Amino acid sequence: MKVPTTIGHSRARRTLVSFRMGRAIGRVGVALVLAAGAAAMTAAMASVAVAQSSRTRIVMLGTGTPIPDPERSGPAVAVVVDSVAYLFDAGAGVVRRAAAASRNGVPGLNAPALGRLFLTHLHSDHTLGLADVLFTPWIQGREAPLELYGPPGTRRMVHGLLDAWDEDIHERIASSGGPSAEGYRANVHEIVPGVVYKDARVTVKAFAMPHSAWKYAYGYRIETPDRTIVISGDGRPNDDVAAQCHGCDVLIHEVYSDAGFARVPAARQAYHAQAHTSAARLAAIATAARPGLLVLYHQLYFGASDEQLLAEVRAGFAGRVVSARDLQEF
Ligand SMILES: [Zn+2]
Ligand SMILES: [Zn+2]
Repeated sequence: MKVPTTIGHSRARRTLVSFRMGRAIGRVGVALVLAAGAAAMTAAMASVAVAQSSRTRIVMLGTGTPIPDPERSGPAVAVVVDSVAYLFDAGAGVVRRAAAASRNGVPGLNAPALGRLFLTHLHSDHTLGLADVLFTPWIQGREAPLELYGPPGTRRMVHGLLDAWDEDIHERIASSGGPSAEGYRANVHEIVPGVVYKDARVTVKAFAMPHSAWKYAYGYRIETPDRTIVISGDGRPNDDVAAQCHGCDVLIHEVYSDAGFARVPAARQAYHAQAHTSAARLAAIATAARPGLLVLYHQLYFGASDEQLLAEVRAGFAGRVVSARDLQEF
């Protein structure tokens, strides 16, 4: 771990896996029993369960990619432990999706409470919401700086954002009843692989992901009192994911459709093959990783359907798998 730099304004066990649709009211979950080879997700909604006991809730705030799909915000995952939220990535729309989850009854996701953010890498689809996480919670009442963890380059990005919104920051602080003079700041922790964060509730470990030409791209392993979660971030197939998961409760992994990929022009195939993970390769990784639940996110369909993508994964992975949508909870 490194000593953080505060950047401010100085001139600058589950046999049933329950999940909840974002618009559902209350805490009634739909239990999925996803047997291998199940025809479709809806067919697997076998029973209803109430997920009251877990101290850890995972909310898919955004499952999207650079494609501006109105149904999918940019990538962002919230792990909420005992009402404290830990955000992983900040895609476009992150604070509004968090507000939607908060409205649906998930604690810790109201704007002023968003105080901890971990970035997997600095691609724009994962960081377009960073300004949102810096400024919106502050305007809504956050008084402490954002605790921000990310790869080298994160500090420069925050400097640039604070510079870009400099006039706004001045105006808001100067105006009567303006927000706190601290809450827009960030304590930036530029991290390397290893344990990067630990408190009484969670331990967060970063591991390297090979992703296109990025020098620094990370996945995260999150240990809470009752669950272990691994988030891939973006990356091409990486055997270390299986070691990081090693029977974890939930593996959240990016993926692209093999059938869709076959229709992509060769030049784009070359890029995606060294940037992302195919469904077939993910199936092999998940088989080795043995997660209690595999959650697909950052799905690149390339024209394939969700059912096709799930079928491609299930062809090589016998465990439970869900193709996530925004605001689903696990
Ligand atoms: Zn991405
Ligand atoms: Zn990326």
